Amino acid sequence: MPLKALDIYKLLPKKNCKECGDPTCLTFAMKLASGKGDVTKCPYLDEDAKVVLGASTRPPIQLVRVGVGELRFGVGDEFVLFRHEKTFYHPTALMISVSDRWTADEIRVQTRRVASDHLVRVGADLRLNGIAIRNDSGSPEAFGKAVAAVEETATHLPEVLMATDPAAQEAGLASCGHFRPLIHAATMETYPAMCGLAKKFGCPLVISAPDLATLSDLSKRCTAEGVARLMLDVSPSSLADYIPAATLIRRLAICRAQPEFGYPVFLDATRYGNQDTAIALGILKYASVIATETLPPATLRAALTLRQNIYTDPQKPIQMNPGLYPIGSPGKDAPVLMTVNFSLTFFTLQGYLESARVPCYMLIVDTEGLSVLTAVASGKLNETLVKESLKRFDVGSSVTHRKLIIPGYASPLSGRIEEETGWKVLVGPRDAAEIGEYLAQEWKS
Ligand code: SF4
Repeated sequence: MPLKALDIYKLLPKKNCKECGDPTCLTFAMKLASGKGDVTKCPYLDEDAKVVLGASTRPPIQLVRVGVGELRFGVGDEFVLFRHEKTFYHPTALMISVSDRWTADEIRVQTRRVASDHLVRVGADLRLNGIAIRNDSGSPEAFGKAVAAVEETATHLPEVLMATDPAAQEAGLASCGHFRPLIHAATMETYPAMCGLAKKFGCPLVISAPDLATLSDLSKRCTAEGVARLMLDVSPSSLADYIPAATLIRRLAICRAQPEFGYPVFLDATRYGNQDTAIALGILKYASVIATETLPPATLRAALTLRQNIYTDPQKPIQMNPGLYPIGSPGKDAPVLMTVNFSLTFFTLQGYLESARVPCYMLIVDTEGLSVLTAVASGKLNETLVKESLKRFDVGSSVTHRKLIIPGYASPLSGRIEEETGWKVLVGPRDAAEIGEYLAQEWKS
């Protein structure tokens, strides 16, 4: 089990010398307990304490990175079983398949689609993560050509090389090994050769076994070979078997009972009849990388949305970027409506304004994602913030009038905003659904 902050504190030198970068030994202990500290930053730890703390405070699931450059992604480095206990940090990577039986043109079309498909949702640009290249032909030469076709089309798109034959893997790695693809997969029969390739090219390696006992054994053998960045593919025969297997791996990793399971989980969704269900279950239940066939647009949107929901921090509200947002084509006499950057508030108001068909501006101020009521109560929304936002987004040059409509729940601030900004404040309705009627009756520029 991971040590608690006070247990860690007992092992520290208690000099409060600040050399670790923290003001006290206790804050250093709290950082280590949250998994965000580095034991080696305290120069006064004795060797025994280093060993105990090193084992206890490193992430229970190894961080594994795939690819290079801007599109590189990392998975693992998780600390909890359930999202509400803290948060999940590294979203499931979705890798779309191409086959080495396809023509080079078909592979290029698919690769371009993966590189460009995206969904903008609540201000975030959601994308697929890369390409899974499959050695369906069994031929190393065909596999090498398929990998080369992907490379020519999108050089920095992360890849999973899915070939059980080490000779085919080597042919693929010859084209893209320096871009750190994920190698899938070493088995009990092939692990010495696959470990050799992983070390030669510096790539992470998926290990695959039909049951957890064999997977545990294989994991130990691969780490003994010197491969530190592994992923686990338990290859269950059914989705019903995937859930208990993935859950047990996660439990054993989180409680550090079996360090050989302390790696991210890989799921090949194409093995199952219902690929959509496999993707959903994988995202919900601990799959760090999922390989799939081409996704129809509706499934793609559903998968990206589900992933975003599971991997947002439940302790942080989803926020919009502050700014001045036009609705329709507003002129110089258009109303300006101020509100907060809590995304739900933004999209609700935006929807009602669009249906009201009144061209206008939304002035979104930075309340760190708090709703109007909470931001007013906490003091985050105040006259100074409104004044700064009017200036920062140069609202005065977008309209000729000086009238600002504020949310009904911010009415206690109306007088102070008027004094601070010099703008006339109009108090809008509390319910965004009434904004159309309000503008029709009240707005005169
Ligand atoms: S360096 Fe070590 S002794 Fe000094 S404050 Fe940090 S934890 Fe305490």
